[in-house]
Amino acid sequence: MTVETINPHTGQSEYRHELMDAAAIEAVLAAAGDAAERWAATPLEERGALLRAIGHQLRARRGDLQRIMTAEMGKLGKEALAEIEKCAGACDYYADHAAGYLREEIVETDASRSYVRYEPLGCVLAVMPWNFPIWQVFRFLAPALMAGNVAVLKHASNVPRCADAIALVLRAAGLPEGVFGVLHIDNEQAADVIRDARIAAVTLTGSERAGRSIAANAGDQLKKCVMELGGSDAFVVLEDADLDLTVRQAVAARFANAGQTCIAAKRFVVVEAIADAFVERFVEAAAKLRLGDPQHEATTLAPMARQDLRDELHRQVRASIDQGARALLGCEPDASHAGYPASILDGVAPGMPAYEEELFGPVAAILRVRDEDEAVRVANDTTFGLGGSVWTRDAARGERVARRLRCGVAFVNAIVRSDVRLPFGGIKRSGYGRELAGHGIHEFTNIKSVYVA
Ligand code: NAP
Repeated sequence: MTVETINPHTGQSEYRHELMDAAAIEAVLAAAGDAAERWAATPLEERGALLRAIGHQLRARRGDLQRIMTAEMGKLGKEALAEIEKCAGACDYYADHAAGYLREEIVETDASRSYVRYEPLGCVLAVMPWNFPIWQVFRFLAPALMAGNVAVLKHASNVPRCADAIALVLRAAGLPEGVFGVLHIDNEQAADVIRDARIAAVTLTGSERAGRSIAANAGDQLKKCVMELGGSDAFVVLEDADLDLTVRQAVAARFANAGQTCIAAKRFVVVEAIADAFVERFVEAAAKLRLGDPQHEATTLAPMARQDLRDELHRQVRASIDQGARALLGCEPDASHAGYPASILDGVAPGMPAYEEELFGPVAAILRVRDEDEAVRVANDTTFGLGGSVWTRDAARGERVARRLRCGVAFVNAIVRSDVRLPFGGIKRSGYGRELAGHGIHEFTNIKSVYVA
Protein backbone atom coordinates (compact mmCIF):
# COMPACT_ATOMS: atom_id res chain seq x y z
CA MET A 1 0.00 0.00 0.00
CA THR A 2 1.25 3.51 -0.82
CA VAL A 3 1.17 6.16 1.88
CA GLU A 4 1.27 9.83 0.88
CA THR A 5 2.30 12.62 3.22
CA ILE A 6 1.03 16.17 2.73
CA ASN A 7 2.83 19.39 3.62
CA PRO A 8 0.59 20.93 6.33
CA HIS A 9 1.19 24.51 5.19
CA THR A 10 0.97 24.18 1.42
CA GLY A 11 -1.32 21.15 1.11
CA GLN A 12 1.08 19.81 -1.54
CA SER A 13 2.07 16.16 -1.70
CA GLU A 14 5.33 15.84 0.21
CA TYR A 15 6.40 12.24 -0.13
CA ARG A 16 5.05 8.81 -1.11
CA HIS A 17 6.27 5.54 0.25
CA GLU A 18 5.24 1.91 0.26
CA LEU A 19 4.35 0.05 3.44
CA MET A 20 6.68 -2.89 4.05
CA ASP A 21 5.64 -6.39 3.02
CA ALA A 22 6.06 -9.48 5.22
CA ALA A 23 9.58 -10.20 3.90
CA ALA A 24 10.83 -6.68 4.62
CA ILE A 25 9.35 -6.78 8.15
CA GLU A 26 10.99 -10.16 8.73
CA ALA A 27 14.37 -8.74 7.66
CA VAL A 28 14.13 -5.93 10.24
CA LEU A 29 13.03 -8.28 13.04
CA ALA A 30 15.69 -10.87 12.14
CA ALA A 31 18.41 -8.19 12.25
CA ALA A 32 17.12 -7.00 15.65
CA GLY A 33 16.97 -10.58 16.92
CA ASP A 34 20.56 -11.22 15.79
CA ALA A 35 21.85 -8.00 17.31
CA ALA A 36 20.13 -8.27 20.71
CA GLU A 37 22.58 -10.57 22.48
CA ARG A 38 25.69 -8.89 21.08
CA TRP A 39 24.41 -5.44 22.06
CA ALA A 40 23.51 -6.59 25.56
CA ALA A 41 27.08 -7.89 25.96
CA THR A 42 28.67 -4.66 24.63
CA PRO A 43 30.44 -2.88 27.51
CA LEU A 44 28.58 0.13 28.89
CA GLU A 45 31.49 2.47 28.05
CA GLU A 46 31.25 1.42 24.40
CA ARG A 47 27.51 2.00 24.37
CA GLY A 48 28.10 5.41 25.97
CA ALA A 49 30.67 6.36 23.32
CA LEU A 50 28.13 5.48 20.62
CA LEU A 51 25.45 7.56 22.34
CA ARG A 52 27.83 10.54 22.34
CA ALA A 53 28.53 9.96 18.64
CA ILE A 54 24.76 9.92 17.99
CA GLY A 55 24.44 13.27 19.79
CA HIS A 56 27.24 14.61 17.59
CA GLN A 57 25.52 13.38 14.41
CA LEU A 58 22.21 14.92 15.49
CA ARG A 59 23.90 18.29 15.90
CA ALA A 60 25.84 17.95 12.64
CA ARG A 61 22.66 17.14 10.68
CA ARG A 62 20.31 19.57 12.41
CA GLY A 63 19.68 21.61 9.24
CA ASP A 64 18.46 18.60 7.24
CA LEU A 65 16.50 17.22 10.17
CA GLN A 66 14.79 20.55 10.75
CA ARG A 67 13.70 20.84 7.12
CA ILE A 68 12.23 17.34 7.13
CA MET A 69 10.32 17.95 10.39
CA THR A 70 8.93 21.24 9.11
CA ALA A 71 7.91 19.80 5.73
CA GLU A 72 6.29 16.69 7.21
CA MET A 73 4.44 18.01 10.26
CA GLY A 74 4.73 21.78 10.05
CA LYS A 75 6.97 22.51 13.04
CA LEU A 76 8.43 26.03 13.24
CA GLY A 77 12.10 26.02 12.24
CA LYS A 78 13.32 27.30 15.61
CA GLU A 79 11.17 24.82 17.53
CA ALA A 80 12.59 21.98 15.42
CA LEU A 81 16.18 23.06 16.11
CA ALA A 82 15.49 23.22 19.85
CA GLU A 83 13.98 19.72 19.69
CA ILE A 84 17.06 18.30 17.95
CA GLU A 85 19.37 19.86 20.54
CA LYS A 86 17.22 18.35 23.32
CA CYS A 87 17.69 14.89 21.75
CA ALA A 88 21.45 15.35 21.54
CA GLY A 89 21.45 16.48 25.19
CA ALA A 90 19.53 13.34 26.20
CA CYS A 91 22.15 11.16 24.45
CA ASP A 92 24.93 12.96 26.35
CA TYR A 93 23.00 12.71 29.62
CA TYR A 94 22.48 8.96 29.42
CA ALA A 95 26.04 8.40 28.20
CA ASP A 96 27.16 10.16 31.41
CA HIS A 97 24.60 8.78 33.88
CA ALA A 98 23.55 5.29 32.74
CA ALA A 99 26.33 3.58 34.70
CA GLY A 100 25.03 5.14 37.91
CA TYR A 101 21.41 4.21 37.19
CA LEU A 102 22.33 0.63 36.22
CA ARG A 103 24.83 -0.05 38.99
CA GLU A 104 24.20 -3.26 40.95
CA GLU A 105 22.65 -2.54 44.34
CA ILE A 106 23.87 -4.61 47.25
CA VAL A 107 21.03 -5.52 49.64
CA GLU A 108 21.68 -6.77 53.17
CA THR A 109 19.78 -10.06 53.74
CA ASP A 110 20.60 -13.34 55.45
CA ALA A 111 22.56 -14.34 52.31
CA SER A 112 26.33 -14.17 52.18
CA ARG A 113 25.75 -11.83 49.25
CA SER A 114 22.55 -10.52 47.67
CA TYR A 115 21.99 -7.74 45.21
CA VAL A 116 19.77 -6.29 42.46
CA ARG A 117 20.90 -6.08 38.83
CA TYR A 118 19.34 -4.35 35.83
CA GLU A 119 19.48 -6.56 32.75
CA PRO A 120 18.12 -5.65 29.29
CA LEU A 121 14.83 -7.18 28.13
CA GLY A 122 15.77 -7.57 24.45
CA CYS A 123 14.00 -5.92 21.51
CA VAL A 124 11.48 -3.17 22.29
CA LEU A 125 8.87 -2.06 19.74
CA ALA A 126 8.42 1.72 19.91
CA VAL A 127 5.20 3.17 18.44
CA MET A 128 5.64 6.91 18.23
CA PRO A 129 3.63 10.05 17.35
CA TRP A 130 4.35 12.87 14.91
CA ASN A 131 4.10 15.86 17.29
CA PHE A 132 7.73 15.75 18.46
CA PRO A 133 8.90 13.37 15.73
CA ILE A 134 12.54 13.24 16.86
CA TRP A 135 12.27 13.88 20.62
CA GLN A 136 9.62 11.26 21.36
CA VAL A 137 11.86 8.65 19.75
CA PHE A 138 15.02 9.70 21.60
CA ARG A 139 13.21 10.07 24.93
CA PHE A 140 12.66 6.32 24.76
CA LEU A 141 15.69 5.30 22.72
CA ALA A 142 18.63 6.91 24.57
CA PRO A 143 17.93 5.15 27.92
CA ALA A 144 16.75 1.92 26.24
CA LEU A 145 19.97 1.57 24.23
CA MET A 146 22.12 2.37 27.26
CA ALA A 147 20.27 -0.33 29.23
CA GLY A 148 21.36 -2.80 26.54
CA ASN A 149 18.09 -3.16 24.63
CA VAL A 150 17.68 -3.03 20.86
CA ALA A 151 14.69 -1.27 19.28
CA VAL A 152 12.41 -1.24 16.27
CA LEU A 153 10.43 1.91 15.51
CA LYS A 154 6.95 2.18 14.03
CA HIS A 155 6.61 5.91 13.54
CA ALA A 156 3.41 7.82 12.78
CA SER A 157 2.44 7.45 9.13
CA ASN A 158 2.76 11.20 8.41
CA VAL A 159 6.47 11.37 9.39
CA PRO A 160 8.18 8.52 7.43
CA ARG A 161 11.16 10.67 6.43
CA CYS A 162 11.77 11.63 10.08
CA ALA A 163 11.93 7.89 10.87
CA ASP A 164 14.42 7.26 8.05
CA ALA A 165 16.47 10.33 9.04
CA ILE A 166 16.79 9.00 12.60
CA ALA A 167 18.02 5.66 11.22
CA LEU A 168 20.60 7.52 9.11
CA VAL A 169 21.85 9.44 12.16
CA LEU A 170 22.33 6.21 14.11
CA ARG A 171 24.08 4.50 11.22
CA ALA A 172 26.39 7.47 10.67
CA ALA A 173 27.29 7.35 14.38
CA GLY A 174 28.40 3.75 13.97
CA LEU A 175 25.57 1.92 15.76
CA PRO A 176 25.90 -1.77 14.83
CA GLU A 177 23.49 -3.29 12.29
CA GLY A 178 20.19 -4.42 13.82
CA VAL A 179 20.43 -2.42 17.06
CA PHE A 180 17.86 0.02 15.66
CA GLY A 181 15.41 -0.70 12.84
CA VAL A 182 12.55 1.16 11.19
CA LEU A 183 9.27 -0.52 10.29
CA HIS A 184 7.06 1.30 7.79
CA ILE A 185 3.89 -0.57 8.71
CA ASP A 186 0.22 0.06 9.42
CA ASN A 187 -1.60 -0.64 12.66
CA GLU A 188 -2.64 -4.18 11.73
CA GLN A 189 0.92 -5.10 10.86
CA ALA A 190 1.98 -3.54 14.18
CA ALA A 191 -0.36 -5.96 15.98
CA ASP A 192 1.43 -8.88 14.25
CA VAL A 193 4.82 -7.47 15.26
CA ILE A 194 3.69 -7.26 18.91
CA ARG A 195 2.88 -11.00 18.71
CA ASP A 196 6.34 -11.83 17.31
CA ALA A 197 8.46 -13.77 19.81
CA ARG A 198 11.48 -11.52 19.16
CA ILE A 199 9.62 -8.52 20.58
CA ALA A 200 10.08 -8.44 24.35
CA ALA A 201 8.21 -5.24 25.21
CA VAL A 202 6.31 -2.31 23.71
CA THR A 203 6.28 1.43 24.30
CA LEU A 204 3.65 3.78 22.90
CA THR A 205 3.48 7.53 22.90
CA GLY A 206 0.15 8.49 21.37
CA SER A 207 -3.57 8.80 21.86
CA GLU A 208 -5.88 7.04 24.28
CA ARG A 209 -7.42 5.19 21.31
CA ALA A 210 -4.04 3.78 20.22
CA GLY A 211 -3.23 2.99 23.85
CA ARG A 212 -6.31 0.81 24.29
CA SER A 213 -5.47 -1.20 21.18
CA ILE A 214 -1.72 -1.59 21.73
CA ALA A 215 -2.01 -2.30 25.46
CA ALA A 216 -4.65 -4.97 24.68
CA ASN A 217 -2.37 -6.60 22.09
CA ALA A 218 0.64 -6.48 24.42
CA GLY A 219 -1.50 -7.72 27.32
CA ASP A 220 -2.70 -10.65 25.26
CA GLN A 221 0.95 -11.67 24.88
CA LEU A 222 1.81 -10.75 28.50
CA LYS A 223 4.43 -8.32 27.25
CA LYS A 224 5.53 -5.35 29.32
CA CYS A 225 4.39 -1.99 27.96
CA VAL A 226 4.73 1.69 28.75
CA MET A 227 1.87 4.00 27.77
CA GLU A 228 2.50 7.74 27.31
CA LEU A 229 -0.95 8.96 26.26
CA GLY A 230 -2.95 12.16 26.00
CA GLY A 231 -3.52 14.87 28.56
CA SER A 232 -5.71 17.84 29.39
CA ASP A 233 -3.38 19.68 31.76
CA ALA A 234 -4.76 22.35 34.04
CA PHE A 235 -2.99 25.73 34.24
CA VAL A 236 -4.21 26.96 37.63
CA VAL A 237 -4.10 30.75 38.08
CA LEU A 238 -4.55 31.79 41.73
CA GLU A 239 -5.62 35.35 42.64
CA ASP A 240 -2.08 36.30 43.77
CA ALA A 241 -0.39 35.27 40.49
CA ASP A 242 2.19 37.55 38.87
CA LEU A 243 0.12 38.55 35.84
CA ASP A 244 3.01 39.55 33.56
CA LEU A 245 4.80 36.24 34.04
CA THR A 246 1.61 34.17 34.01
CA VAL A 247 0.20 35.63 30.79
CA ARG A 248 3.54 35.36 28.97
CA GLN A 249 3.91 31.72 30.00
CA ALA A 250 0.26 30.91 29.34
CA VAL A 251 0.75 31.85 25.69
CA ALA A 252 3.83 29.63 25.37
CA ALA A 253 2.24 26.79 27.37
CA ARG A 254 -0.81 26.63 25.10
CA PHE A 255 0.40 27.68 21.64
CA ALA A 256 3.94 26.27 21.25
CA ASN A 257 4.01 23.51 18.62
CA ALA A 258 0.58 24.76 17.47
CA GLY A 259 -0.84 23.44 20.74
CA GLN A 260 -0.05 19.86 19.75
CA THR A 261 1.81 18.88 22.90
CA CYS A 262 0.67 16.23 25.38
CA ILE A 263 1.69 18.46 28.30
CA ALA A 264 0.43 21.72 26.79
CA ALA A 265 -1.76 23.71 29.16
CA LYS A 266 -5.26 22.95 27.86
CA ARG A 267 -7.65 24.02 30.63
CA PHE A 268 -6.97 27.43 32.21
CA VAL A 269 -8.54 27.19 35.66
CA VAL A 270 -8.68 30.80 36.87
CA VAL A 271 -9.83 32.13 40.26
CA GLU A 272 -12.65 34.69 39.78
CA ALA A 273 -10.83 37.58 41.54
CA ILE A 274 -8.15 37.67 38.81
CA ALA A 275 -10.10 36.11 35.93
CA ASP A 276 -11.13 39.27 34.02
CA ALA A 277 -7.63 40.75 34.16
CA PHE A 278 -5.98 37.46 33.18
CA VAL A 279 -8.39 36.74 30.33
CA GLU A 280 -8.16 40.26 28.87
CA ARG A 281 -4.36 40.16 28.79
CA PHE A 282 -4.21 36.54 27.61
CA VAL A 283 -6.46 37.36 24.64
CA GLU A 284 -4.39 40.46 23.83
CA ALA A 285 -1.11 38.48 23.91
CA ALA A 286 -2.42 35.45 21.99
CA ALA A 287 -3.87 37.72 19.28
CA LYS A 288 -0.30 38.78 18.42
CA LEU A 289 0.70 35.25 17.33
CA ARG A 290 1.24 35.04 13.58
CA LEU A 291 0.07 31.89 11.85
CA GLY A 292 1.90 31.20 8.60
CA ASP A 293 4.67 29.39 6.77
CA PRO A 294 6.61 27.48 9.42
CA GLN A 295 9.86 28.02 7.49
CA HIS A 296 9.56 31.82 7.89
CA GLU A 297 11.26 33.55 10.81
CA ALA A 298 8.30 35.89 11.34
CA THR A 299 5.82 33.04 11.86
CA THR A 300 5.10 32.46 15.54
CA LEU A 301 2.21 29.96 15.26
CA ALA A 302 2.74 26.80 13.22
CA PRO A 303 0.00 25.14 11.18
CA MET A 304 -1.48 21.97 12.60
CA ALA A 305 0.08 18.75 11.34
CA ARG A 306 -2.82 17.50 9.22
CA GLN A 307 -6.08 18.85 7.87
CA ASP A 308 -8.16 16.03 9.42
CA LEU A 309 -6.75 16.90 12.86
CA ARG A 310 -7.60 20.58 12.29
CA ASP A 311 -11.16 19.62 11.27
CA GLU A 312 -11.59 17.46 14.36
CA LEU A 313 -10.37 20.31 16.60
CA HIS A 314 -12.87 22.65 14.95
CA ARG A 315 -15.67 20.13 15.57
CA GLN A 316 -14.79 20.18 19.29
CA VAL A 317 -14.76 23.99 19.29
CA ARG A 318 -18.13 24.24 17.46
CA ALA A 319 -19.77 21.73 19.79
CA SER A 320 -18.48 23.62 22.84
CA ILE A 321 -19.83 26.92 21.48
CA ASP A 322 -23.19 25.27 20.71
CA GLN A 323 -23.31 24.25 24.38
CA GLY A 324 -22.66 27.78 25.63
CA ALA A 325 -18.91 28.50 25.49
CA ARG A 326 -17.96 31.98 24.19
CA ALA A 327 -15.34 32.46 21.47
CA LEU A 328 -13.06 35.31 22.60
CA LEU A 329 -10.44 34.83 19.89
CA GLY A 330 -10.10 32.83 16.65
CA CYS A 331 -12.23 29.69 16.57
CA GLU A 332 -12.56 29.64 12.74
CA PRO A 333 -10.24 27.57 10.51
CA ASP A 334 -7.61 29.47 8.51
CA ALA A 335 -7.65 29.44 4.70
CA SER A 336 -4.27 27.65 4.62
CA HIS A 337 -4.25 23.85 4.36
CA ALA A 338 -4.11 22.84 8.06
CA GLY A 339 -3.83 26.21 9.81
CA TYR A 340 -5.93 27.09 12.86
CA PRO A 341 -5.52 30.48 14.52
CA ALA A 342 -4.77 31.05 18.19
CA SER A 343 -8.19 30.57 19.80
CA ILE A 344 -9.67 31.13 23.26
CA LEU A 345 -12.98 29.85 24.60
CA ASP A 346 -14.43 31.36 27.78
CA GLY A 347 -17.18 29.95 30.00
CA VAL A 348 -16.16 26.34 29.43
CA ALA A 349 -18.26 24.00 31.58
CA PRO A 350 -18.75 20.28 32.26
CA GLY A 351 -20.22 18.33 29.36
CA MET A 352 -18.53 20.43 26.66
CA PRO A 353 -15.79 18.80 24.53
CA ALA A 354 -13.45 21.62 25.63
CA TYR A 355 -13.94 20.47 29.25
CA GLU A 356 -14.13 16.70 28.83
CA GLU A 357 -11.76 15.95 25.91
CA GLU A 358 -8.19 16.74 24.93
CA LEU A 359 -7.97 19.77 22.60
CA PHE A 360 -4.88 18.85 20.58
CA GLY A 361 -4.38 22.19 18.84
CA PRO A 362 -4.17 25.96 19.48
CA VAL A 363 -7.36 26.41 21.52
CA ALA A 364 -7.35 27.50 25.18
CA ALA A 365 -10.34 26.71 27.41
CA ILE A 366 -11.06 29.14 30.28
CA LEU A 367 -12.74 27.66 33.37
CA ARG A 368 -13.60 30.25 36.03
CA VAL A 369 -13.63 29.09 39.67
CA ARG A 370 -14.41 30.70 43.08
CA ASP A 371 -11.26 29.88 45.03
CA GLU A 372 -8.26 27.61 45.51
CA ASP A 373 -10.30 24.59 46.64
CA GLU A 374 -12.62 24.77 43.66
CA ALA A 375 -9.58 25.23 41.40
CA VAL A 376 -8.11 21.96 42.66
CA ARG A 377 -11.43 20.16 42.28
CA VAL A 378 -11.90 21.37 38.69
CA ALA A 379 -8.23 20.74 37.77
CA ASN A 380 -8.68 17.12 38.90
CA ASP A 381 -12.10 16.74 37.26
CA THR A 382 -10.73 15.01 34.18
CA THR A 383 -10.16 11.49 32.97
CA PHE A 384 -6.54 12.45 32.20
CA GLY A 385 -3.63 12.84 34.63
CA LEU A 386 -0.49 13.85 32.78
CA GLY A 387 0.70 17.30 33.98
CA GLY A 388 -0.47 20.51 35.64
CA SER A 389 0.88 23.89 36.71
CA VAL A 390 0.08 26.41 39.44
CA TRP A 391 0.68 30.16 39.23
CA THR A 392 0.98 32.24 42.42
CA ARG A 393 3.40 34.73 44.00
CA ASP A 394 3.48 32.47 47.09
CA ALA A 395 5.74 29.53 46.18
CA ALA A 396 4.85 27.56 49.34
CA ARG A 397 1.14 27.89 48.53
CA GLY A 398 1.86 26.86 44.93
CA GLU A 399 3.66 23.78 46.16
CA ARG A 400 0.74 22.84 48.43
CA VAL A 401 -1.66 23.09 45.50
CA ALA A 402 0.72 21.23 43.15
CA ARG A 403 0.82 18.33 45.61
CA ARG A 404 -2.99 18.08 45.43
CA LEU A 405 -3.04 17.75 41.63
CA ARG A 406 -3.75 14.19 40.46
CA CYS A 407 -1.14 13.98 37.72
CA GLY A 408 2.38 12.70 37.01
CA VAL A 409 4.16 16.03 36.53
CA ALA A 410 3.27 19.18 38.54
CA PHE A 411 5.07 22.52 38.14
CA VAL A 412 4.84 25.77 40.13
CA ASN A 413 5.36 29.09 38.28
CA ALA A 414 6.87 27.26 35.32
CA ILE A 415 5.56 25.59 32.19
CA VAL A 416 5.26 21.80 32.43
CA ARG A 417 8.07 20.26 30.41
CA SER A 418 10.07 17.07 30.25
CA ASP A 419 13.56 17.09 31.76
CA VAL A 420 15.94 14.13 31.42
CA ARG A 421 16.67 14.35 35.17
CA LEU A 422 13.03 13.94 36.24
CA PRO A 423 10.71 10.98 35.61
CA PHE A 424 7.95 11.75 33.11
CA GLY A 425 4.56 10.09 32.63
CA GLY A 426 0.93 10.09 33.65
CA ILE A 427 -1.83 8.42 35.61
CA LYS A 428 -5.47 7.63 34.78
CA ARG A 429 -6.11 7.70 31.00
CA SER A 430 -2.80 9.47 30.40
CA GLY A 431 -1.19 6.06 30.70
CA TYR A 432 1.30 4.28 32.90
CA GLY A 433 5.02 3.72 33.27
CA ARG A 434 7.67 6.42 33.25
CA GLU A 435 10.27 7.75 30.85
CA LEU A 436 13.49 9.63 31.60
CA ALA A 437 15.69 9.79 34.72
CA GLY A 438 16.44 6.51 36.54
CA HIS A 439 12.79 5.40 36.50
CA GLY A 440 12.75 5.58 32.69
CA ILE A 441 15.91 3.55 32.14
CA HIS A 442 14.65 0.87 34.54
CA GLU A 443 11.30 0.40 32.69
CA PHE A 444 12.84 -1.82 30.05
CA THR A 445 15.09 -3.85 32.29
CA ASN A 446 14.73 -7.11 34.13
CA ILE A 447 15.12 -5.99 37.74
CA LYS A 448 16.81 -9.15 38.87
CA SER A 449 17.55 -10.29 42.41
CA VAL A 450 20.61 -12.46 42.96
CA TYR A 451 20.95 -14.35 46.26
CA VAL A 452 24.04 -16.31 47.22
CA ALA A 453 23.50 -18.40 50.35
P1 NAP B 1 -2.07 8.41 17.53
O1 NAP B 1 -3.02 8.60 16.43
O2 NAP B 1 -2.45 7.57 18.67
O3 NAP B 1 -0.71 7.86 16.86
C1 NAP B 1 0.43 7.57 17.63
C2 NAP B 1 1.14 6.39 17.04
O4 NAP B 1 0.32 5.24 17.27
C3 NAP B 1 1.32 6.45 15.52
O5 NAP B 1 2.51 5.81 15.18
C4 NAP B 1 0.12 5.67 15.01
O6 NAP B 1 0.33 5.15 13.73
C5 NAP B 1 0.06 4.59 16.04
N1 NAP B 1 -1.22 3.92 16.19
C6 NAP B 1 -2.44 4.48 16.27
N2 NAP B 1 -3.37 3.52 16.47
C7 NAP B 1 -2.70 2.33 16.51
C8 NAP B 1 -3.08 0.97 16.66
N3 NAP B 1 -4.35 0.64 16.84
N4 NAP B 1 -2.12 0.02 16.64
C9 NAP B 1 -0.82 0.35 16.48
N5 NAP B 1 -0.39 1.63 16.30
C10 NAP B 1 -1.32 2.60 16.33
O7 NAP B 1 -1.63 9.78 18.17
P2 NAP B 1 -1.11 11.07 17.43
O8 NAP B 1 -2.26 11.75 16.83
O9 NAP B 1 0.06 10.74 16.55
O10 NAP B 1 -0.50 11.88 18.66
C11 NAP B 1 -1.27 12.68 19.46
C12 NAP B 1 -1.60 12.02 20.78
O11 NAP B 1 -0.41 11.58 21.43
C13 NAP B 1 -2.23 13.00 21.73
O12 NAP B 1 -3.27 12.39 22.44
C14 NAP B 1 -1.08 13.38 22.65
O13 NAP B 1 -1.47 13.90 23.88
C15 NAP B 1 -0.38 12.08 22.75
N6 NAP B 1 1.02 12.27 23.21
C16 NAP B 1 1.36 11.85 24.47
C17 NAP B 1 2.64 12.10 24.93
C18 NAP B 1 3.07 11.68 26.31
O14 NAP B 1 4.26 11.70 26.59
N7 NAP B 1 2.18 11.26 27.21
C19 NAP B 1 3.56 12.75 24.12
C20 NAP B 1 3.16 13.15 22.85
C21 NAP B 1 1.89 12.90 22.40
P3 NAP B 1 -0.39 5.78 12.43
O15 NAP B 1 0.10 7.17 12.28
O16 NAP B 1 0.07 4.88 11.35
O17 NAP B 1 -1.86 5.70 12.70
